[in-house]
Amino acid sequence: MKYVSTRGQAPELGFEGAMLAGLARDGGLYVPAVVPQMSQADIAALAGLSYEQAAFRVMRPFVDLPDDVFEGLIAKAYAGFGHSARAPLVQLDSGHFLLELFHGPTLAFKDFAMQLIGQLFQEAMARKGERITIVGATSGDTGSAAIEAFRGLDAVDVFILFPHGRVSEVQRRQMTTPTEANVHALAMDGDFDDCQAAVKAMFNDFAFRDAVGLTAINSINWARVLAQVVYFFTAAVALGAPHRSVSFTVPTGNFGDIFAGYIARSMGLPIERLVVATNRNDILHRTLATGEHRKEGVSPTISPSMDIQVSSNFERALFDAYGRDGGAVRQLMAELGQGGFTVSQGALQALRETFASGRASEEETSATIRAIQAATGEVLCPHSAVGVKVAREHMHRPTPMITLATAHPAKFPDAVEAATGQRPPLPIRMADLYDRPERMTRVANDLGQIQTLMRERTRQ
Ligand SMILES: *Cc1c(COP(=O)(O)O)cnc(C)c1O
Repeated sequence: MKYVSTRGQAPELGFEGAMLAGLARDGGLYVPAVVPQMSQADIAALAGLSYEQAAFRVMRPFVDLPDDVFEGLIAKAYAGFGHSARAPLVQLDSGHFLLELFHGPTLAFKDFAMQLIGQLFQEAMARKGERITIVGATSGDTGSAAIEAFRGLDAVDVFILFPHGRVSEVQRRQMTTPTEANVHALAMDGDFDDCQAAVKAMFNDFAFRDAVGLTAINSINWARVLAQVVYFFTAAVALGAPHRSVSFTVPTGNFGDIFAGYIARSMGLPIERLVVATNRNDILHRTLATGEHRKEGVSPTISPSMDIQVSSNFERALFDAYGRDGGAVRQLMAELGQGGFTVSQGALQALRETFASGRASEEETSATIRAIQAATGEVLCPHSAVGVKVAREHMHRPTPMITLATAHPAKFPDAVEAATGQRPPLPIRMADLYDRPERMTRVANDLGQIQTLMRERTRQ
């Protein structure tokens, strides 16, 4: 399987090359040169399989590994989940289902991708006998999921930049309490976009990138998107695909999770609509509504993992919407650097054939947590509540709607307690999180200083 860059000027790579590169050398993101198709019969045959078996069948055409090796990595990736179905589906209301993606080791959907990527990197590095440095910017959940996936691996250092004071206490503790020496939690003065900008700048510094063997595990990494494609299949098949279409609503920040849904749809899964749900940081909702893609300041919300103004993976959707014209994408991204761009009529129409969108205010998010608990007993995290609120506005019977529940409520206890009056408990396997000592390094929003620190810590 070959992968091409959305900006058209980087070399084509195989699966492992694209995974290890993260960002392409032309600043673009890797996407499959041709998306493999699953026939109706292939999709129907997923019914009744375990999550791991379905994962193997869905991902295999994208990956260049021997079958038995890949199967072994998938088995290890999901062994640490706290639910045997991995991604169980629960019903909220007639025609409305919740896909619980929070049973992994850090209680958010990012574990699905990160646990697999940890296994894939370990396998690749062991085979090559090399060392790498993983770097990621996080608004909370990516970082903890990455640290959990890479802690203790001897060929890997993992550096996570998070905005100081802007992640929840559970998220911070999940990043700062692992004791392994290869884990480096960096609390940066700034917001998530500043962290993300610092990571992007490191990748554009080729000398630094090569010196420390830099690799990204942010949602721009193709392997992460791929791992997330699987649960769109398992959920849709559980509700009758390929014989019946379904729609999904996805609480969206960096557009990684919903782009995985778009890939599932491109592979042949009958998805009627993919609904982008945003909080008041609504650049994607505004773009789909008006065609104007303009940055605004980030405004902190009770769903912090969606507090972004630049949605990196949206570039992948634009690449397809512009007929896979890397030159056009380069032009748009240059304009975005100056503040924003207008999506062409043709591209906007193409996007609207797949995507719909909506947003939830802070009050609506809280009210949804309260209402769903009262009606069903299910306690939503604030991100999932944004999804449920928007999903309810996009139901078109008889097509079932599946809303992705992206985190466990105990990851955001303050927001949940404010909404319901009850503090959601951590699952028993994590109950001592508040007692473990923390370890982190404060850094300024200063690329040179961060690079110096990374050079020092990787030069053992
Ligand atoms: C990361 C995250 C999101 C946003 O996902 P993207 O792939 O960035 O769109 C939503 N909810 C939670 C809990 C997250 O951790």
